[in-house]
Amino acid sequence: MSVFEGLKLTKIKPPSEGERIRFEKGSMVVPDVPVIPFIEGDGVGPDITAAMRTVIDTSVRKAYAGKRRLAWWEIFAGEKSHDLFGEWIPEDTFEAIRYFRIAIKGPLTTPVGGGIRSLNVTFRQTLDLYACVRPVRYFQGVPAPLKTPEKVDMMVFRENTEDVYAGIEWAAGTPEVEKVRAFLAGMGAEIRPGSGIGVKPISETGSKRLMRVAIRYALDHGSRSVTIVHKGNIMKFTEGAFRTWCYEVAAQEFGDVTVTEEQVEKKHDGKIPAGKLLINDRIADAMFQQILLRPEEYDVLATPNLNGDYISDALAAAVGGLGLAPGGNMNDEIAFFEATHGTAPKYAGLDKINPGSLILSAVLMLEHMGWNEAADLVVKAMEKTIGSGVVTYDLARQMGSSIEVSCSGFARAICDNM
Ligand code: NAP
Repeated sequence: MSVFEGLKLTKIKPPSEGERIRFEKGSMVVPDVPVIPFIEGDGVGPDITAAMRTVIDTSVRKAYAGKRRLAWWEIFAGEKSHDLFGEWIPEDTFEAIRYFRIAIKGPLTTPVGGGIRSLNVTFRQTLDLYACVRPVRYFQGVPAPLKTPEKVDMMVFRENTEDVYAGIEWAAGTPEVEKVRAFLAGMGAEIRPGSGIGVKPISETGSKRLMRVAIRYALDHGSRSVTIVHKGNIMKFTEGAFRTWCYEVAAQEFGDVTVTEEQVEKKHDGKIPAGKLLINDRIADAMFQQILLRPEEYDVLATPNLNGDYISDALAAAVGGLGLAPGGNMNDEIAFFEATHGTAPKYAGLDKINPGSLILSAVLMLEHMGWNEAADLVVKAMEKTIGSGVVTYDLARQMGSSIEVSCSGFARAICDNM
């Protein structure tokens, strides 16, 4: 059995094979057989996780001829964890993700009532996964509301820990809200009686670290621009400050490789100097128009939490829906990938649902590990599969002529097309 020094588990056994991903001088070092902790998820989770593993294992085997392999290791959260351990997310699960640094999960049911927070939010906050990443691109053949969905190819970096999602709010009519109202009245801000009150914190630290990863990603991937999406014209000291801090990071830390839209206009005759990454900003409502009208002009978006939530789903819808939208949550050391849809309980165990979102999240994971050859194999095979009309029920019902396959059937078709 492998030895994992310092891994502290109380309820589950350590992995029986594989190695830990490590960092050397700030860079990630991925062994040939990394341990990848996975959470199956509730509802349709087991179906899509099995499909995802089939596809990803096949791609890795084909890309590296057996030299590389993923050592999958199950960890627990959600209903399965509650049944086994009486806890929705055991400490072992947080420990495993921190220790192994990359993990992937299916959807989790949010327990209703009893004051239990969303498990997804708990993961993000407990592990301080400050950036939510959502790539959005079009797959040929998928019915989409946009006339030219193939022009959409964006990566959304959404701040994940602050903003109105910080969970600081008081219900109308409670003694707490009355205290807050009284305090605000003392500050000269009258709030109408009978109001609920929420707080929207946005910090320099939170904004700058988000912009930093967005710029690094853009530079690493040869993107043309990073667009700051904010509502700073109205919320000056939160969203407006987000904009200011994002521009500051670009100027102070990446000044030699970035140029702002204003500089392009004033100093460079309207032309982006060769080799420079354009930094610009758009007010959120205008950006919602831009993604429909001129999507080809945008590459990487950096957004506060709420804007990012809305815009990443709107973008996913523009190219044909959430069934194919991947996502991940990360910080400087940990990356945790996930299906972006929910548990779709009515399809649980039916081997029916579209596993595309989780498969593409795993592609994002492979790219994050630098295993781009395997990632490319999956994307090309998925393009070929959907392009030839072989799809799950959700796409089949929208497409004129298609061959409907099951969740596992879709995975097999992708493997056959690799
Ligand atoms: P949902 O599970 O995403 O499902 C809503 C509908 O979306 C499904 O009935 C299905 O539509 C369609 N759909 C979702 N995923 C699909 C896929 N992979 N392939 C094809 N169609 C798909 O949303 P919900 O019903 O609002 O939420 C159910 C539970 O999931 C809740 O407990 C919620 O808290 C949880 N949830 C978890 C996450 C997460 O873990 N990240 C995210 C969202 C929600 P049709 O019926 O029209 O086919």
